[in-house]
Amino acid sequence: MNIVVCVKYVPDAQSERTFQESDSTVDRDAVDGLLSELDEYAVEEALKIVEARGEGEVVVVTVGPPAAADAIKKALQMGAHRGVHVQDDAIHGSDAVATSLVLTEAVKKATDGSPELVLTGMASTDGTMGVVPAMMAERLGLPQVTYASELTVGDGTVTIRRDGDTASETVEASLPALVSVTDQINEPRYPSFKGIMAAKKKQVDTWSLADLGLEASQVGLDAAWTTVVTFAKRPPREQGQIVTDEGEGGARLAEFLSAQKFL
Ligand SMILES: Cc1cc2nc3c(=O)[nH]c(=O)nc-3n(C[C@H](O)[C@H](O)[C@H](O)COP(=O)(O)OP(=O)(O)OC[C@H]3O[C@@H](n4cnc5c(N)ncnc54)[C@H](O)[C@@H]3O)c2cc1C
Repeated sequence: MNIVVCVKYVPDAQSERTFQESDSTVDRDAVDGLLSELDEYAVEEALKIVEARGEGEVVVVTVGPPAAADAIKKALQMGAHRGVHVQDDAIHGSDAVATSLVLTEAVKKATDGSPELVLTGMASTDGTMGVVPAMMAERLGLPQVTYASELTVGDGTVTIRRDGDTASETVEASLPALVSVTDQINEPRYPSFKGIMAAKKKQVDTWSLADLGLEASQVGLDAAWTTVVTFAKRPPREQGQIVTDEGEGGARLAEFLSAQKFL
């Protein structure tokens, strides 16, 4: 089975993120980036499926700036077979709608128009919208099952377990399908030394919008359905209030919470 995994290159959550004054977009060059940690679960699941079946390949696809090649590299080191990097200056400032369009065309091209299974993370660790997979499924005309915490590929079907707050449900879809997975589904492997060395020789295709038959006018800030109107630096944290419990600590705490309108 050939599986496509969408992997996003995101700013490191430990770094302070900034916006560019010129166009209110995220300054992606200001901080180091990495493969979105939630996408590692999708890569791991794809590798497990291919390994269990003893055939097939895992292709990882990313849409992002030149540095996004690092996200592909990590997935190849984990064991993915080849990578696709869509990179084009015109993509700068794209919203989820445009990102899903570019990703969809990349998935189609990477699979000669016939993906068997597409896996994504449940959300990126920066945008965390969790909408790109649904938009891609619609564009690809595939059934979509979301938030899989367990996944089984059967004969022409994919079955997932989906955990809600009060109940778990089992959902089945016919293949080809698009599935987003949660961080409960597996434990992603660390790249081994052998994997790191092998990744150096793996194929990575870099495609532009033109390679995908897309126009610059379909993506980027001008095509975005959402606009960042304004942004401001988060105010510094204020010193916390320390209450010394001299017998009436509970009451003081309740007063404080009440004053903050938490009670
Ligand atoms: C090149 C580029 C420039 C951008 N510029 C800006 C900007 O200037 N300002 C701004 O605010 N936002 C920008 N974005 C962010 C963008 O609008 C959103 O991050 C994107 O639309 C997806 O939303 P999300 O991250 O919330 O994805 P979610 O819907 O939360 O993602 C769910 C899953 O979809 C897949 N996925 C999502 N995005 C990608 C991707 N790019 N490549 C591969 N897989 C993916 C992953 O599997 C992920 O786990 C940019 C994104 C890119 C790629």
